[in-house]
Amino acid sequence: MLDTPIEYLKGIGPQRGEALRKELNVFTCFDLLRHYPFRYIDRTVFHNVRDIESEENSYQLRGVIESLGLEGSKRGKRLVAKFRDNTGVIELVWFQGHNWFAEKLKTGIEYIIYGKPALYRGHFNIPHPEIEEATEASKQMAHFQPVYGTTEKLKLKGLDSAGLRKAEKMLVGQLKASHVSETIGTELRDKMKLAGLYEAYCHIHFPENADELKQATYRLKFDELFYLQLKLLRINRNRARTVQGQVFSKVGDLFNEFFNHQLPFALTNAQKKVLREIREDTRSGKQMNRLLQGDVGSGKTLVALMSMLLAIDNGFQACLMAPTEILAQQHFNTFTELLRNMEVNFALLTGATPAAKRKKLHAGLQSGEIKILIGTHALIEDEVKFQNLGFVVIDEQHRFGVAQRAKLRDKNVNPPHILIMTATPIPRTLAMTLYGDLDTSVIDEMPPGRKPIKTNHYMESKRLAVYGFMKEQIKLGRQIYVVFPLIQESEKMDYQNLQQGYDNIVTEFPPPQYQVSIVHGKLSNEQKEFEMQRFVKGQTQIMVATTVIEVGVNVPNASVMVIESAERFGLSQLHQLRGRVGRGADQSYCILMTGYKLGAESRLRMKTMEDTNDGFVISEVDLKLRGPGDIEGTQQSGIMDLRIANLAQDGKILQTARKVAGEILDEDPELTMEKNRVYAEHLTVLRKDRPNWSKVG
Ligand code: ADP
Ligand code: MG
Repeated sequence: MLDTPIEYLKGIGPQRGEALRKELNVFTCFDLLRHYPFRYIDRTVFHNVRDIESEENSYQLRGVIESLGLEGSKRGKRLVAKFRDNTGVIELVWFQGHNWFAEKLKTGIEYIIYGKPALYRGHFNIPHPEIEEATEASKQMAHFQPVYGTTEKLKLKGLDSAGLRKAEKMLVGQLKASHVSETIGTELRDKMKLAGLYEAYCHIHFPENADELKQATYRLKFDELFYLQLKLLRINRNRARTVQGQVFSKVGDLFNEFFNHQLPFALTNAQKKVLREIREDTRSGKQMNRLLQGDVGSGKTLVALMSMLLAIDNGFQACLMAPTEILAQQHFNTFTELLRNMEVNFALLTGATPAAKRKKLHAGLQSGEIKILIGTHALIEDEVKFQNLGFVVIDEQHRFGVAQRAKLRDKNVNPPHILIMTATPIPRTLAMTLYGDLDTSVIDEMPPGRKPIKTNHYMESKRLAVYGFMKEQIKLGRQIYVVFPLIQESEKMDYQNLQQGYDNIVTEFPPPQYQVSIVHGKLSNEQKEFEMQRFVKGQTQIMVATTVIEVGVNVPNASVMVIESAERFGLSQLHQLRGRVGRGADQSYCILMTGYKLGAESRLRMKTMEDTNDGFVISEVDLKLRGPGDIEGTQQSGIMDLRIANLAQDGKILQTARKVAGEILDEDPELTMEKNRVYAEHLTVLRKDRPNWSKVG
């Protein structure tokens, strides 16, 4: 029954069926069943027209349409209904679908309407309300009337929320327990007091009371998160069982020499903790797949370097892959600095490496002479072969696809250990899902002596004061970044803004007293490098840039980050940019410049930046603001398939689901026990449903 194409559901038919497929991806009755309400209205409460006082609230009214007519012309054309109850009159307005509504609505009969008022010329009206005849049936009001997501096109076909509700009602009315194949075993259901799947489907749409709704919601959220975790944990554990890891049995000379003689400072406790975790993994015989999260500047690179020394001490080679040329070069410089006086042969390979040098590199890697290779994704090309690759570090993972991870892993017969570093902290719930197949380490402590960056948000009127401040800082010998947003869709305009901004800066900071660099994506690599180097060497005081500097630039003397049109950046990007300063001993500053008209969300972003330097706090706010779908990297995960669970809100359920899934796999890794067959079977169904589930880790 649930596989029935949607057009065969009574009341749908071919036209609406087509619209449902196109607009909501609803192909079958099952899809419609899983088009869950996004909220519920308490239909037992009615308001009076007289009481309407805010655009923020929604109101339910009962009354009569007195008159109905089209007003305005062309694009302003609208259908206006004068709606009266015992206390007053309010206009209902339709800007779209007027013909359909004009035909459907009648004067003189009673309607129940629900909607959010808008203030127009000093009066409230209600645009596009939900409207329904006050029939006998609708008078037996439900406490929880479901509201469904719909689209303008569906509304034109009569499938507004009320129309969808009718269809769902029809469907749920026909649904029998035998149509639904239960996805959670009896034992677990009893233990967790979970509602049955059939009941959950019925009650999520038409709950009789709050408890039913709560049970149904929990059951369906749990279901989604449980299967997501079961899938991820299974990948993780299968890999652990089937893949033989390289064994780093000893801590050898290089590591010790570095630790005792080269290390210019004491490791933070967080760095020590992570190194211990890596040490444990790499000597255990399993293959490590570890995610290392740590804010910009928390000292991840050092951890990576020391892990690589561990690998070399045990007779292996190591490599580090960075997302950009600049960043790879910078890692190379860091290594040069940290490994001086030590006998470690390391090399740099990027797209810019000339062919002759490349050839030599290839030979050195194959003979095992080169111990560490640093580079961009040039590393994963097939010609790059190692003698014995044992440890792979991937920096800023979100810029690489999962497939690239896999390619590096395949560079050795026995896959190397993999450490993925990300400077974009992500909330725990998201990490558990996005990287649920990885073990995670966190550096949650900054090296000592760092002064928290002071962040301030200013509007245009403060620009001169900001310039004045910049001059003071330059006088103190500091350097400054000025960053402009660059958003691809409006590239041309953005470049104009950037050029304009650059001109303004040069006018305000004229040569020869001041020197200004400019770096953006349209420059060639050599030009970029040239401009960067001028800034790195202190020949220029100001660097005007687009976000190409977001990742990896390290100029400790730079102490001011000015972000122009800051409202156009997302929180994590702002945080990344800010991380470019505060690397030296001096007090650093981040200045967020915005226009005057800011939405509530932009204001919250600016305020969050002012209030905290903690990347994890910022990532939580980001997740709440944007939802997981917009956060980088989520597209390739199962997150986008979530229909009801919400990672920003359902952290507790997620943790429970992960724990339960782990326990099941502890007892029955292959899911072959009779009571677990249901999970194995349902995982297969899901896989068929979603052929693109990543199998790579
Ligand atoms: P990340 O890669 O996490 O952004 P880095 O590894 O680049 O951070 O470290 C940032 C800066 O902090 C570097 O200049 C590094 O030398 C320094 N650093 C790293 N660890 C420590 C430490 N334990 N004590 C003092 N400085 C440190
Ligand atoms: Mg780094």
